[in-house]
Amino acid sequence: MSKSSNPAEPKWTAQDSSRLYNIENWSNGYFAISKEGELLVRAPVADNCVEDVSLIEIVNSLQERGLDMPVLLRLENLVDARIREINESFRAAIAAADYKGEYRGAFPVKVNQQSHVISEIVRFGKRYHHGLEVGSKAELLIALSTMEDRESLIICNGYKDQEFIDLGLQARILGFKCFFVIENPSEIQLIIARSKEMGVEPMIGARLKLFTRVEGHWSEDSGDRSLFGLNTNELIQVIDKLKSEKLLHCFQLVHFHLGSQIPNIRNIRQGLLEACRYYVDLCNEGAPLGYLDIGGGLAVDYMGTYSTDGHSRNYNVQEYCADIIEAIQESMDEYDLPHPTIVSESGRATVAHTAVLLFNVLDVTQFQPGPIPDTLPDDTPEPITNLMEVARTIVPSRIQECYNDVIHYRSQVRELFARGEIGLRTVAIADNLYLFALRQIVEQMSTLRRIPPEIESLPDQLADIYYGNFSVFQSLPDSWAIDQVFPVMPIHRLTEEPTHKAVIADITCDCDGKLHHFSHMDENFSHTIPLHTFTDGEEYYIGVFLVGAYQETLGDLHNLFGDTNIASIRVNEDRTFDLVHEFEGDSISDVLTYVEYEPQNLFQTFRRKAERAVKDGRISVAQRQQMIRLFEESLRGYTYFEK
Ligand SMILES: *Cc1c(COP(=O)(O)O)cnc(C)c1O
Repeated sequence: MSKSSNPAEPKWTAQDSSRLYNIENWSNGYFAISKEGELLVRAPVADNCVEDVSLIEIVNSLQERGLDMPVLLRLENLVDARIREINESFRAAIAAADYKGEYRGAFPVKVNQQSHVISEIVRFGKRYHHGLEVGSKAELLIALSTMEDRESLIICNGYKDQEFIDLGLQARILGFKCFFVIENPSEIQLIIARSKEMGVEPMIGARLKLFTRVEGHWSEDSGDRSLFGLNTNELIQVIDKLKSEKLLHCFQLVHFHLGSQIPNIRNIRQGLLEACRYYVDLCNEGAPLGYLDIGGGLAVDYMGTYSTDGHSRNYNVQEYCADIIEAIQESMDEYDLPHPTIVSESGRATVAHTAVLLFNVLDVTQFQPGPIPDTLPDDTPEPITNLMEVARTIVPSRIQECYNDVIHYRSQVRELFARGEIGLRTVAIADNLYLFALRQIVEQMSTLRRIPPEIESLPDQLADIYYGNFSVFQSLPDSWAIDQVFPVMPIHRLTEEPTHKAVIADITCDCDGKLHHFSHMDENFSHTIPLHTFTDGEEYYIGVFLVGAYQETLGDLHNLFGDTNIASIRVNEDRTFDLVHEFEGDSISDVLTYVEYEPQNLFQTFRRKAERAVKDGRISVAQRQQMIRLFEESLRGYTYFEK
């Protein structure tokens, strides 16, 4: 029953929407709803100072500037806020525990390589000596050219060829604290050889292959069979090699990474304690270790449930930091070792909150029956009259029986159609009755204490389909690839009750191109989302949140939908905002080039065709001009739906 349809009940409010979409629990305080029912970004503008800006206001101002939907909106203030939160949380935990070491963050470039994201992380991160973690030569080049602060770390993971190693050694010559983390024993030979050649000592770390296994989607990254890291024998080889080369003093860092999005803090603690054992024994072997790098894994609560579900986490950043400091401190104190500098490589937790995918709804398909006639013609086949009879007499007490009958008569109708005994118009009447009957069943279901399992998923099957102007494959690849849940909600009309249960389809026309994993209040996990009535001619905007990590470069060109428009916004202290960066998404010509067409050739071939048609008298010269102009404009245009 819709709240607003009953005048005795209070009107739907912003608080109702806030609860329904569970904003408080996934937004980390960065989003809230205004009294007018618009979604606000609560942008931290200075220490302890927040300014609210409406996302609809931002959308409007972007459209005035020619940046159409879909848009990936980056909120630069949030990049700063995340870096601040992680660093300040570690600082607070260090102070509270009287831990004697320091914290150094290193942002893993692979999580979001976009140049202005990295520059902002480096620019703001400088005050905390927040560095970068790189896993390839390309990423190392980014670090070398972007970073200035020589107190910040550059952590080189991944397989390293000679060029990679030479680049890292040059960073050492320039004065950067650039660590090579050894992933396999053969790397050490090359590093030693090149450092002798170039006359500079390397900073060396080793990646551990831990026994601890973690829960969540990335559990394969952990345990004996994990793809990366040195086992105990290999570690010994590395130590012996460094000892024999009199370079053991270069071995200063121990690294491990248990996988991304670790939902259970117990796993983190367990892995860390194991790593500490290695750290202690490596010190006993004579390595002058000073850094313990705990990798990534700090999870984001996409569902807002504070649980061990794979899309959530049972801890917050403060608890994460406190647990880590405590575990390391206890381990070191037990062996009277100095407290190491703690390094973490949080990627997801640093950038997930900082981007929102915004799109408009283009159309809606509803599974609603048309008008039901009072009587059916005399010659109506029996299964259809039976269907009508059942549809009109559905009662909660016999709901399962009614459902069975409906399914039975409907399949009889379909058989008649298949045998050619009834025509399309007759089937259409039956289908309408069928839909009417299912709707009745769904309506009466809500009055039942126990819902028969067979009809449980009926509401989902009858959910409206809202078509969004975006591509899941391009913009939310993890939603498709690993069923990642992202918070989704309309960004306006939030003082109005959303009365439609819906799934959201993209415009790729691919059956996988849809959002159908949602998390909202009351239902931890749902295949549908409540949305507002869509009115033709009025814009309806939806946001997908927490999409700043991993989504952009994993995206693909399914159906040749290209990069979306991108806008980076910085909110100022006077509540205005600056468009600090804009990027026009791919044109059709761009995406055609990616799959090796030559737009110029396509255009010329098409023009020749049009000219041929003029010669043959099939079109006029004016028509030819119109056609080739449209072709040319399309090549230049956006790959998404344009008004
Ligand atoms: C991917 C990766 C990270 C980032 O992990 P998050 O869970 O996103 O923080 C950190 N370190 C290494 C070595 C990685 O491969």
